[in-house]
Amino acid sequence: MREFCVFAILIACFTYSSAVYSYTKEQVLNDFQCKNSNEPECYFLKRSLNRDSKKCYQPLSKVKNFAPFVFPEYKNENKKITVSGWINYRGVFPGKYKYQVYKDKNGNINLYTNVHLSNVYEDSDIFKTLRTSAKNAAAKWTKDNPFKTKVNFIFDITTDYFKGFISATLLNTETRGPYFWFWSKNWDEQMMHEFAHILGLDDEYESLENYPKDSMMGIPPSYPKSKIYPYHYYLIFRRILCH
Ligand SMILES: [Zn+2]
Repeated sequence: MREFCVFAILIACFTYSSAVYSYTKEQVLNDFQCKNSNEPECYFLKRSLNRDSKKCYQPLSKVKNFAPFVFPEYKNENKKITVSGWINYRGVFPGKYKYQVYKDKNGNINLYTNVHLSNVYEDSDIFKTLRTSAKNAAAKWTKDNPFKTKVNFIFDITTDYFKGFISATLLNTETRGPYFWFWSKNWDEQMMHEFAHILGLDDEYESLENYPKDSMMGIPPSYPKSKIYPYHYYLIFRRILCH
């Protein structure tokens, strides 16, 4: 009888842990009503999940309000979570992502990332203008977050190679990147898109059939109808729960 009880407890534990930890990609697609849909948002959500080095599947409801799971009120620790990995960028290149998440002394949750830029001086006007653009881009990401857990996005640029999360060369001409090679001194609203790459989002304009009409990853962010979708936030925030 005792053996049976132990066995029953083990089975119960196993079932419980499977239910809690083994969320699947199919369940994520269900959360987004994307299981049988090939609408652009669903197509790009699926593709992003497939292209990520982190096989991190989390329930949408949990990601929408991740704060209590990551920063429980009863713990007063200064926890800083560093998320890093690779996406199969444009289906071809290994593209690095890296960002840090922490709760400040005012209780705000901050999500920080940066880029090291070579070919520019820190005391130049170009650098100052780019830094302002980075700040404005982060403000847009902060404002458009539709989820319950509010996040303060912080984007920065640095001329210190060792402080950079990724490194690129600043060009005086237009460029189409890629984000881990070239940035342009002319980028303003475009920063919203480029920093999103450092947060692990892919471009969404390769497939004409599934062209996203208004995704900021598919059309220039300066277009008035350009928008950040909830699945973009989901892709970024879910990885915090996998640490
Ligand atoms: Zn891009």
